[in-house]
Amino acid sequence: MENKKLYKLICVDCKKEWKEEETSSNCMDCGGALDVVYDYDKITEKLNMHLIKTAPISSLKYLNFYPIEDMSKIVSLNEGNTPLYECKTLGKMLGLNHLYIKYEGANPTGAFKDRGTMVEITKALELGKKAVCCASTGNMAASVSAFASKAGLPCYVIVPEGTPIGKLAQTLSYGAKLIQIRGTYADAVRLTINLSQKHDFYLCGDYAFRAEGQKSQAYEIAEQLNWTAPDKLIIPIGCGTNSSAIWKGFTEYKKFGFIDSLPQMIGVQASGANPVVCAYEKQTMNYEIQDKPATVASAICVGEPLDGKKILKAIYDSNGMALDVKDEETLNAQKLLAKTESIFVEPSAATGLAALQKLVEMKKVNKDEKIVIVMTGAGLKDPTSVLKVLPTSPVINPVDSEVDRFLDKKFYQICSANTDAEDKKILFDKIPTEEQLKKTVKIEFDVDIMNSDLVNARDQITSFLDKGKEIKRSDLQMIVENSIRKGKEKTIKIIDFGVTASKKEKPVANIKLEYENKEYEESSDGVGPVDALIKAFQKVLAKNNMNYALTDYQVKINTKHADAVVDIKMAVKDEKNNVSVIAMGTSPDILVASIEAFEEGANLLYNKSC
Ligand SMILES: *Cc1c(COP(=O)(O)O)cnc(C)c1O
Ligand SMILES: [Zn+2]
Repeated sequence: MENKKLYKLICVDCKKEWKEEETSSNCMDCGGALDVVYDYDKITEKLNMHLIKTAPISSLKYLNFYPIEDMSKIVSLNEGNTPLYECKTLGKMLGLNHLYIKYEGANPTGAFKDRGTMVEITKALELGKKAVCCASTGNMAASVSAFASKAGLPCYVIVPEGTPIGKLAQTLSYGAKLIQIRGTYADAVRLTINLSQKHDFYLCGDYAFRAEGQKSQAYEIAEQLNWTAPDKLIIPIGCGTNSSAIWKGFTEYKKFGFIDSLPQMIGVQASGANPVVCAYEKQTMNYEIQDKPATVASAICVGEPLDGKKILKAIYDSNGMALDVKDEETLNAQKLLAKTESIFVEPSAATGLAALQKLVEMKKVNKDEKIVIVMTGAGLKDPTSVLKVLPTSPVINPVDSEVDRFLDKKFYQICSANTDAEDKKILFDKIPTEEQLKKTVKIEFDVDIMNSDLVNARDQITSFLDKGKEIKRSDLQMIVENSIRKGKEKTIKIIDFGVTASKKEKPVANIKLEYENKEYEESSDGVGPVDALIKAFQKVLAKNNMNYALTDYQVKINTKHADAVVDIKMAVKDEKNNVSVIAMGTSPDILVASIEAFEEGANLLYNKSC
């Protein structure tokens, strides 16, 4: 039996060979990554070349290229066989004639990880393990827990706090025991390794067996391109496992004669987590560990890439390159891809397109090259990130005139105005006249703002300036959006308010309102300043027979802005008539934003009840 093995596990650093019963993660001597090294002659003897060339792509077509010994143990969810889209619209826009996207979001759990997890969980069963564990930035957690569930194995997962909501929801649904840590992915890896050793859990992760399963992306791309390799393959790098696996896949297909060239490997990282790019820029194999990686592209928020050396070698061997992209470029690329090709991906995947845009600008691509970007994960995994750069949609009363109002006022033209560098341009540092404001809105957004909205917008500008904030282009965009959204004249209007707070006493708020040409003043305490203010507001309402309750409250720091601006979204309910509305407020000051949101809610409910 022993000498029949088709493969060995070898340390990429010290070249020591390990038995898979001992370790399939890292070298127990030097800590280096392991690689599965095949006896390709033996594989060739077994291989049915005709079948590979003619059978349709499916998850189990490539078993000959995997280190699986007991075929009865295979755990599959029909992963792989993902589409390769030819992107004509986007290609035209970038001046490229042959641009393709391999869409890995089409896998069962929404990311390429499933290809590797199939092999990994199968190996866990082969090795007789009773449970599995893994560290993850989210997608591995979702994938491993899905396959573990299918295999009937308990699954333990450790992720960094703040992991995107879609990935957490998946992982918990598949039944894994999930722990979030106040730390980085590297911390999660360390804890998980200890956990696996203590309890003899099978350690899943960016290790040798997973990499083998992920090679099938290369096999499929080659077949989908009619048995050719792309000229360039663009791919995000986290640990470097996937990119180096794809490279290995292409080199194998070349060895077996299925293709006759290899792609240049273009690795992409986020500028906040770029150890591989830094090593590439120094033309070395030795990357430096980054302790505090930070990027919106959470799946590649990795400062210590386990397979960094493997991917650096692939980049050098293929005459490729590594480059990084800023988060803003990533989110804009994510939007662009969805808009032009209707492919909705998560930010980490979108880094590939942001990188291609840069390469085009740098004239590093030839228009006739065959370029494939691997879009590694689906957009619904992390819907909150991209919402930061998308317009907030208005909530309106269900009448045609309201719909018309938003279209007539070119609301969407303003909302989708470009959010780029010129956004930081300062437009006003003192209160503009109505004439000046009108002119500026016309110049910046090509929109004629109506007089009622103008008054509203000017009020908001005044309140921003009062708080010591200059009005940048992005501020003006948001202020105009806001005033159009708010629309009608206010019936209930805040004249002024104040809150006193101290450490020991409950805060007390005082508010002055105008309603039907009469002024009211009330005060109230509350558990917090916002609560006190709203209670004081409600006292005035109660005097006039209105009972409006705050039923939901969300705070968002608006990242369209360099300096913090707070967006408040709240649900306000008319208790008597049992109707609710969503209201919003925006200001550099959280109290102002909150009370303005409540003011809007009260006015909306008032108008509904008349
Ligand atoms: C895991 C992951 C990556 C990074 O892959 P590595 O193998 O860690 O380099 C990129 N994008 C998505 C969506 C991922 O889930
Ligand atoms: Zn070693």
